[in-house]
Amino acid sequence: MYVYADNAATTAMSQVAIDAMIPYMNKVYGNPSSLHSVGQEAKEALEAARETVAKCLGCEPREITFTSGGSEADNQAIISAARFGARKGKKHIISTAFEHHAVLHTLNKLEKEGFEIQLLDVSKGHNITAQQVKDAIREDTCLVTVMYANNEIGSVLPIAEIGAVCKEAKVPFHTDAVQAVGHLHINVKEQNIDMLSLSGHKFHGPKGVGALYCRRGLPLVNVIEGGAQERGKRAGTENIAGICSMAAAMKDACDHIDENMPRVAAMRDRLIEGLSQIPHSALNGDSVNRLPGNVNFCFEGIEGESLLLLLDMKGVCASSGSACTSGSLDPSHVLLAIGRVHDVAHGSLRLSLSEYNTEEEVDHILKVVPEVVAYLRNMSPVWRDLQTGKRQYIL
Ligand SMILES: *Cc1c(COP(=O)(O)O)cnc(C)c1O
Repeated sequence: MYVYADNAATTAMSQVAIDAMIPYMNKVYGNPSSLHSVGQEAKEALEAARETVAKCLGCEPREITFTSGGSEADNQAIISAARFGARKGKKHIISTAFEHHAVLHTLNKLEKEGFEIQLLDVSKGHNITAQQVKDAIREDTCLVTVMYANNEIGSVLPIAEIGAVCKEAKVPFHTDAVQAVGHLHINVKEQNIDMLSLSGHKFHGPKGVGALYCRRGLPLVNVIEGGAQERGKRAGTENIAGICSMAAAMKDACDHIDENMPRVAAMRDRLIEGLSQIPHSALNGDSVNRLPGNVNFCFEGIEGESLLLLLDMKGVCASSGSACTSGSLDPSHVLLAIGRVHDVAHGSLRLSLSEYNTEEEVDHILKVVPEVVAYLRNMSPVWRDLQTGKRQYIL
């Protein structure tokens, strides 16, 4: 059996997304900036895709800019708000300690330029409250950037409440919604979201394409300079096949949320229930406000990397921390931010499901994970020390 349980890293493309892509590779190959009919056909497809994406978010098509993915959208949103704020002498930015690196590294860059970055504590309940945002906002705050849902531990943040707080204080509010789009109902107007990042490959669309929603009236600055594509806000000939495919995948995902997500959440809950039985383990992330597909545990006395390799041999593709941090020896900044100590953070496992997963696959995971954890603990000198009392259990 082969189980793909790493959907937070990326998803398989749906047939809907693949079918939507092909005409723009073989027939409608024009450049949307060309004035002739072949180009105009591509232009029409581009604008239809923009309309689809806008409809899914509850905004206007002109408020959507297509990008190369979630990372670029995050960069552009944050840099735009920072530049706009700086012109008015506002250089304070509020975010959280468990953002994606696309946000955190952009904020690091701004900090070196003299911005003051305030990262909200996420250790309580593995989440933040709107009150924390409210308390942090100052006269010189130019941006609140808070993710919609965490990619590692699945916590879903109180976005509508934070939106209301930001609106009241007249501070621009950006959310990295890469993990939420297609999985949770989103309406940017109702939730008072000013800017939102999304990415095609997290909802069964293609990789290398995403979008930034930016409320009309908020200025965007280019991060890619060049031609006047995307109303002059993002240069480069548009990835028409990718954009049309992403729009089709997004519509498909958003139209079927109520049908797919309860089933995914039920599989998630069965995994959480089953894996909680493993002694000296702990669930990471908000246990109530949680992405339908996210399961994340720490198991004391083992190394996440060895766990992943053995699980892979048993047909389970999972992850330990995010794909960007694996390969480095530092434990995940997210697990450290929620208060896990280094030793415990190293023994983490993320299983992320989609509607393509089945109950039989959940059974398989529930069989092999406890076996592999027990096997690794048997070989672990740390585990021996814990058992003999030479070391104290943390979990
Ligand atoms: C995957 C992800 C990103 C990056 O998106 P790309 O399209 O891969 O650049 C950003 N933020 C979150 C929360 C993600 O999960």
